[in-house]
Amino acid sequence: MSGTFVGMPAFPKAAHDAVNNPTLRGNLRHATHTIRAKRAKAVSEVSDWAALREAGKQIKDHTLRHLDRYLVQLEESVTRAGGTVHWAADADEANRIVTGLVKATGESEVVKVKSMATQEIGLNEALEAEGIHAYETDLAELIVQLGKDRPSHILVPAIHRNRGEIRDIFAREMSAWGRPAPDGLTDTPAELAEAARLHLREKFLRAKVGISGANFMVAETGTLVVVESEGNGRMCLTLPETLISVVGIEKIVPTWQDLEVFLQTLPRSSTAERMNPYTSMWTGTTDAQTADGPRTFHLVLLDNGRTDTLADQVGRQALRCIRCSACLNVCPVYERAGGHAYGSVYPGPIGAILSPQLRGTASEIDASLPYASSLCGACYEVCPVAIDIPEVLVHLRERVAQGGQVTRQGTKVVLKPAKGHAAERAAMRAARWALSHPGALRTGQRLASRTRRLHPRALPGPGKAWTGSRDLPAVPAEPFRDWWQRTQGGKENGK
Ligand code: SF4
Repeated sequence: MSGTFVGMPAFPKAAHDAVNNPTLRGNLRHATHTIRAKRAKAVSEVSDWAALREAGKQIKDHTLRHLDRYLVQLEESVTRAGGTVHWAADADEANRIVTGLVKATGESEVVKVKSMATQEIGLNEALEAEGIHAYETDLAELIVQLGKDRPSHILVPAIHRNRGEIRDIFAREMSAWGRPAPDGLTDTPAELAEAARLHLREKFLRAKVGISGANFMVAETGTLVVVESEGNGRMCLTLPETLISVVGIEKIVPTWQDLEVFLQTLPRSSTAERMNPYTSMWTGTTDAQTADGPRTFHLVLLDNGRTDTLADQVGRQALRCIRCSACLNVCPVYERAGGHAYGSVYPGPIGAILSPQLRGTASEIDASLPYASSLCGACYEVCPVAIDIPEVLVHLRERVAQGGQVTRQGTKVVLKPAKGHAAERAAMRAARWALSHPGALRTGQRLASRTRRLHPRALPGPGKAWTGSRDLPAVPAEPFRDWWQRTQGGKENGK
C-alpha cells in the first residue's frame, strides 16, 4: 500500500530533508529541466498559443459559472448512454460508493488507470481495508506502489527516482505483487519497460473491474476522456467488464468542440508532445457482441471541497487546472524541495493553491503551503489555462494571516479566528498610531538613531523567523527628515 500524506509537518520542515538530499536534487533538476525545455519548444511551434490559452481559460470559466446546469446535463447524458451516476460530497462517501460497487461484482482485484482524484481520496487504502487489491498500471504509479512510496509529481509521480533505484524496486518487490522481474534486470529503459509490461499484462487479462479518473467529461454526450502515453489506460478502459470512474466535478466541458482546445494545449504543456499517444473516449456502456469496453459503467462525481473553492472569487480559478504539470517543471521551489514536501497528491505551485482550498487550512502543512513560493510568476507564464497562481497564493496568505484557520466539517466551511498573529496586529496598531502622530514619530526616530549601537542584530519572539534568514536593516545615524532639513534648508511638508 502506498504511503499517505496524513499528519505531514509544515512545508519548511518537510522540505528541509529534500533540500539536503543531493541525489534527489540531481534527479529533480535533470527531469524538470529536460521537460521544461521540451515544453517550451513544443509550445513555440504553435502560432496561436496565446489565443488557445485564452480560449481554454474562457471555456473553463464559463463552465464553472454554470456548473450546476452542466452537471445535470452530464448526468442525463451518462444515464441515457447506459451508465449510472453517483454523487459524492467528500472522500469518505466516494470511497464507500466505490468499495460497495466493487464488492457487488464479487471481485477482490481491480486495475487502475492513473488518477489524481482517487489518490486525493485515498481510494487504494480504502479498498485494501475491505480486502480489495488495487493495482496501479501506469508505469510511474507502479514504481510508486511497488516502492511503498508517495507520488511527487502530477505527471511523473516517480520523478524523484532514478533508473538504478527503479531497477532495485522492481527486482525486490515485483514477486510479492505478481510476476517477478526477470533475472539480471539492468537499468536500461527498454528492460525496465519490458519488465513492467510483462508484470502488468497478466493483471490486465485477469481483471474484471477497472477504476479510472478522467481528464475531461463532455456534458452534451456524457463522454469521458482519458489522455495517456503508455496504453495502460486503454487496456483498463476496454478489457474489464465493469468500469468505475471517479472524477472531480470541475472536469466537465460543455461540448466536443471545447475539447479541441484542450487536446492541443494539454499534451504540449505536459509531455511536450503535439498530440497524446492514446486518447481514449467512452460514452456509457458497450454491447459485448459488437465492441470492446465496459458492460457496466459507474461515474462517481466528486466534490470534496470543490464547491467551497468555487465560492471563493479569487481562489476558484484553481478549478480551471487541467493537471498538465507545466507549473511544477518551472518552479524553483519545487525543483529544490521536491513533491513530497507539499504533503498532498497535488504538489508544486498548483498544489500550494489547491490543497489549502480543498482541505482547508487547519493543518500545519495546509496553512504553510501558500508560503511555499517565491512569487516569481513562472507558473502563471506557462499555465495553459492562465491560472494566476501568485495572485491566489497572496490571497490565501491573507486568509491564513487574517482569517485564521478555515476548516471543513462535512459540507460546511468553518472559519476559526487566528491566535498566532496577535503580535503582528499589535505592531500594525502601533505603526498606525505613530504615523498619525508626526511629533511622536520624529522623537521616536531620533531616539532610535541615538541608540542604534544598542539595537539587537535579530528580532526576538515571532520576529525571529524573519531575521533568521535576513539582516535587520541598520538604523541610520541621522533620521531622513533631519538630514533633509539640514541639507536642503527647508521645512518638511512646506511648513
Ligand atoms: S495550474 Fe496550470 S500549469 Fe499547473 S498543472 Fe494546472 S493547468 Fe498545468
